[in-house]
Amino acid sequence: MADQIARLAVRHWALWQLPKRALVAYVLAVELAAVAGVVAALVLIPIPSSNLAPFLLLTSCILVYSELSMPIERLRRVARPFVDLNAVWMFAGILLLHPALSAVVIAVSYAVQWVRLRPVPPFRLFFSASATIAASYAACAFSRVTDPVPFERMPRDVASFGLVVGAGLVFLVVNSIITTTFHYFAAGHRRITDALATGVEHALEAATVALGIMLAWALVDWPIVLVLIIGITLVLHRSVLIRQLRDQARTDPKTGLLNSASWSKDAAVQLERKQNSALLMLDLDNFKSINDRYGHLIGDKHLKGVADVLRAEVRVTDMVGRFGGEEFVILLPETSQEDAIAIAERIRRKVEGFAVDGFGTVTVSVGVAAHPDHGTTLEEVVNAADVAMLAAKTAGRNRTLLFAAPGA
Ligand code: GH3
Ligand code: MG
Ligand code: MG
Repeated sequence: MADQIARLAVRHWALWQLPKRALVAYVLAVELAAVAGVVAALVLIPIPSSNLAPFLLLTSCILVYSELSMPIERLRRVARPFVDLNAVWMFAGILLLHPALSAVVIAVSYAVQWVRLRPVPPFRLFFSASATIAASYAACAFSRVTDPVPFERMPRDVASFGLVVGAGLVFLVVNSIITTTFHYFAAGHRRITDALATGVEHALEAATVALGIMLAWALVDWPIVLVLIIGITLVLHRSVLIRQLRDQARTDPKTGLLNSASWSKDAAVQLERKQNSALLMLDLDNFKSINDRYGHLIGDKHLKGVADVLRAEVRVTDMVGRFGGEEFVILLPETSQEDAIAIAERIRRKVEGFAVDGFGTVTVSVGVAAHPDHGTTLEEVVNAADVAMLAAKTAGRNRTLLFAAPGA
């Protein structure tokens, strides 16, 4: 017990383990801005008594929804993809409530989720809640500047609709900028696109905000419709979770790359569709000695590091997979043999330059083969790249070789 309490001490916070001091300062600044906003709103704007009913309804919604979504959440015991549909309640709060009360709705929503699932360390929870609160102030400011009439008294016309949707967009964009900046620097991504949420995730966020608008409308004009909105949210929640589980089944958990079966399936389709593709087969050199010297966990860090290098060095349309233990494959659609060799060499040098701190470096041998020159089916091209990779091993490792047909 005493041990557990000691671990809660400020100096043990996961926040201090962030890779850069500037990032810690950024997280604290966002949190401070959220708190300062709540204080300023409380001082400057009186809380109308009419806010009490929607406030209680929305907080009850969060608790009831959390209970109802438990059967869906149980799937997380198998895997824990992170689904967040809370913007439904949060955005309704932003439209209907005093900014400080909507901040409470946001905080309650994150707190309930955390108590239930503990998906992230506490500082990430505070940060996410603060980012959302800051975004909610941006949406509020937008609404007040464009039209000071409160949501419940707005005429139900196209102009008001435009303003409310505009506030939703401001909320989404500001929230996304704050959190993407964090992810970009926290994970040390090389490209901003790697930190950005995917199109499907943006669409989901937008859908939850849209439901939030309908919920706010319902609470003003026809509160019982709330039951239907909870039902729709549950259905959405379930389909999103299933989709995430399916995506998860396609990836290799150690490296985050496509697993061998999914890569082969997708690569075969790409090969048929695109002319002149190239294939790289990469095998880490003397990897057994890394495991023998430092242990398998450090070996795994090397694997993950190399996988990140591969992903960062190719285009988004190229397909990187983990083929076997310490073997990787990359399909480069519409790429000439010369370009493929240049890409392979670039990757080889980057891998050479990558180190797991204090635990050495690895090198990689790369075999290059081309479609249709070295094979017409995926299997044939993979075989050719494999032969070239083995030739690179025999030739001394840490090099790139193009497949040479026997007798050619
Ligand atoms: P070569 O240069 O000839 O490829 O030598 P090598 O040592 O890399 O090749 P070998 O095939 O003898 O050994 C491959 C090693 O990769 C052995 C295995 O323990 C290690 N390995 C395979 N999968 C994993 C994994 O998921 N994690 C770790 N840490 N090691 C792995
Ligand atoms: Mg191997
Ligand atoms: Mg090897």
